[in-house]
Amino acid sequence: MKVAVIGAGLAGSEAAWVLANTYNLDVVLFEMKSSTPTPAQSEPHHFAELVCSNSLKSKSRLNPAGILKMEMQALGSLLIRSAQQSEVPAGEALAVDRELFSGFITRTLRNHPKITVVEQQIRKISWLSDSDFAAIVIATGPLTASELAEDLRLMTGSNALYFYDAIAPIIDGDTIDHSIAFYANRKTRTARRDSELKLVQDMSGEPDNEESGHYLNLPLNKDEYIAFVEALKAGEKVPYHDFEEPRFFNGCQPIEVLAESGEKTLSFGPMKPMGLDDPRTGRRPYAAVQLRREKIGDGSFNMVGFQTRLKWPEQKRIFRMLPGLANAEFHRMGSMHRNTYLVSPRLVNRDDLALLCNSRVWLAGQISGVEGYVESAAMGLLVGHIIGHKLSRNINLPLPPPDTALGCLVAHLRDSDVKHYCPMNIHWGLFSEMSQEFLAEQAKVIPELAAAKPNKKLDKGLKRSLLANRAEALFSAWKESSLV
Ligand SMILES: Cc1cc2nc3c(=O)[nH]c(=O)nc-3n(C[C@H](O)[C@H](O)[C@H](O)COP(=O)(O)OP(=O)(O)OC[C@H]3O[C@@H](n4cnc5c(N)ncnc54)[C@H](O)[C@@H]3O)c2cc1C
Repeated sequence: MKVAVIGAGLAGSEAAWVLANTYNLDVVLFEMKSSTPTPAQSEPHHFAELVCSNSLKSKSRLNPAGILKMEMQALGSLLIRSAQQSEVPAGEALAVDRELFSGFITRTLRNHPKITVVEQQIRKISWLSDSDFAAIVIATGPLTASELAEDLRLMTGSNALYFYDAIAPIIDGDTIDHSIAFYANRKTRTARRDSELKLVQDMSGEPDNEESGHYLNLPLNKDEYIAFVEALKAGEKVPYHDFEEPRFFNGCQPIEVLAESGEKTLSFGPMKPMGLDDPRTGRRPYAAVQLRREKIGDGSFNMVGFQTRLKWPEQKRIFRMLPGLANAEFHRMGSMHRNTYLVSPRLVNRDDLALLCNSRVWLAGQISGVEGYVESAAMGLLVGHIIGHKLSRNINLPLPPPDTALGCLVAHLRDSDVKHYCPMNIHWGLFSEMSQEFLAEQAKVIPELAAAKPNKKLDKGLKRSLLANRAEALFSAWKESSLV
């Protein structure tokens, strides 16, 4: 039996891999980028290209993105395998060398005997649904080619919606003033408590080097900070096109939009100085910019949280105001991009996430309304398992339960309010409160919980470790009972 996967991005690569490798199904993987790259792509022949940040978010089990990656690993994820082979140091985050990462995935898929790669743009789903494919996965991402987007709009009867993310600049590491910049990891209360409780599970098995720190930090005093915020506000921005409606994803607001929202917004957000004492003064600066390695070595650094729609000459002028960046050269400037997605809760079958209008067709990845590399890959992986069970085991795979990380994403796609539906990354807000029964069970083995005063709010670190425990238990039980 043959399955068509359209798009060899994060979601399509995972779906193709699991269908071919776990379920021994023949997969035809369609990808257009060698002839028609999207505006964000720069690598014509690499699958699963990371078009912006090289971070796959936290590795900690006390972070929802960490839990999601653990679930993916348990389901045989190719993304996780590749990330482990191409990891670059980034504190608690799983960051990768993007070329090694995509190169590994590309070679694995191209060399797989059950996968045929067809370098072609698909313009209509009927091209494939009229042929002998038993299932079709649409994983064409946030920059789905416009003809296919129009075909999907007609097919589903819903409007494709647009909103905007923005790309952060990358700095040439040799042009940073290292007499000002210093290495340190921003240690949050949760991270500190996490190490105290010894609950962090580093997926790579490597201990975090907390001594020196993986991030390069630029400290600002109050005057420097205020001047910088004023410059961001006044800087010239790229105007919107007529067809563009500026709707920003919450976690990806342009830096100038944050600056406009209040003088202190940045110093409490991407420029928060918590735990970043300046070795020159021994004191915490008023604010700090964090730079994360883009590749192994010190050659290039991403400005963390500095996605922007400022014009390029303005970016250079304003970012060079930052201490340590007076002579900075940029490998890549920040920019804006479009995002296309469908309103899944109105379109998908609750039992197996297939489209209601065509039960042989599935959406996977960002086009279905999840947000982010890991979330997109996770949904590609899950859709692969759903189709694999149907076609090669002849059974319907029960969907992962609520309060696992995957179950939270499934709930978002299935149960969200259609009026306010927009792409979502994994976060604690998607997990439900814990029941008294569960807490009572946990109190038997966690003395700190047993000692907690009744009706008092649980400490944040403890609460997160309990949520992680619940997710792990639910996921293991689901995997044990459902995956064949
Ligand atoms: C500019 C930009 C920056 C981003 N930055 C980040 C970030 O820093 N961190 C993060 O987590 N997420 C980021 N995202 C979101 C990120 O793109 C997604 O999270 C992730 O790539 C989505 O995976 P996907 O598989 O759904 O789509 P993609 O990875 O985009 O893959 C879709 C694939 O389908 C192909 N395709 C499209 N249409 C067709 C067609 N008609 N026929 C054949 N092939 C087709 C494309 O060429 C592409 O290879 C960014 C997105 C953009 C656009």
